[in-house]
This record gives sequence, C-alpha cells and structure tokens, in this order.
Amino acid sequence: MNATTPLVGEPPAIDLVNTVTADGDLLAGPEELGAWLALEAERHPEFGGVTADRAALKAVLAVRDHAAAAFGALVEGRRPPESSLGGLAAAVNAAPNRTRLDWDAGAVVASVQREGTTADRLAADFAQAAIDLLTDPAVAKLRRCGAEDCVLLFVPAHPRRQWCSPERCGNRVRVARHYERRKAAR
Ligand SMILES: [Zn+2]
Repeated sequence: MNATTPLVGEPPAIDLVNTVTADGDLLAGPEELGAWLALEAERHPEFGGVTADRAALKAVLAVRDHAAAAFGALVEGRRPPESSLGGLAAAVNAAPNRTRLDWDAGAVVASVQREGTTADRLAADFAQAAIDLLTDPAVAKLRRCGAEDCVLLFVPAHPRRQWCSPERCGNRVRVARHYERRKAAR
C-alpha cells in the first residue's frame, strides 16, 4: 500500500473525504472515480454499477468538499460551516427517494429509488452517508491520523488506534521514531 492507494474501510463518507491525501487528489478524473467506486462497491453495493462520467465526478466532488469541511470542523471541535451542512442537505434533496409499489408473483413489493440523473443520485447517496455519520454519536470518535504528514480521517473501533492504517503510516512513523532515537543516542 502506498500514498496513491485509496484508504477504504471507513464509513463511505470518510472514505470519500480520504480521497484527498497529502500527496494529491485520488479522484482526478472520471476513470479514477470509476475505479474508486468499484472498490467501494465491494462493501457498499449501492455505489456499484454507476457510470462514472464528468457529471458524476463533478457532483461527487461537490459533496466531498462539503463533507471534508463538515468533518474537518468536527475533528477540530468546531461548528461545521453552514455552507457545508446546507450543501449536503441540498445534494440529498436534489434526488429524493420515491417509493414504488408493485404486484409481483402474488405479493406486494415495495422498492425505493431516488429521482434524478445518475450524477444526482450518486451524489445524494454520498451526501446521505455523510449526514448519517454527522448525526451519529459515533462521530465524536472521528480523528485525524497521528502522522504529521498525513491528513486522513478515521473512526477508530479501538480508542488507541492512532493511524489511518498501520501499513500506510503506523509502521512508517515507528521506523522514523526508532531512527531518531538511535541518532540521538549516538
Ligand atoms: Zn496516515
């Protein structure tokens, strides 16, 4: 794993925010978005099978900006900017859920689908994921990686977790500290 491999496995909204790393933007174009969505879809099938075009990229990046501002504020104990909360709500409202009832093989079947374009629906799903986490008490655990040169966020399952991932930062920082101590001892 290196800095250009997306970190996945956090709540989807955090995975999205984490596509901006200290080294750059992992969602630089529609192709990168498609690859990342395929990766997310392994755990969240709702993000699979979406055509990742320019419109989808633009919509997802707008949600990412709002989510990054909101979660970034919370992690620093600040109030999220009004514009970020408004932006997330607007993204969800742009593709409202519609319930449909069908009669299928002798039973009534309900299905819920968002209205709007593919891009709007995708953005709404990510905005909803962000809202779900922002309003979840677990968001109080959200923290930024302990490595000085890393900006990634995570929700630790264990309170002692310090790093976005051991492979990406934990081992790297431990090796650097060990090296520093040896240098100081000499
Ligand atoms: Zn890190």
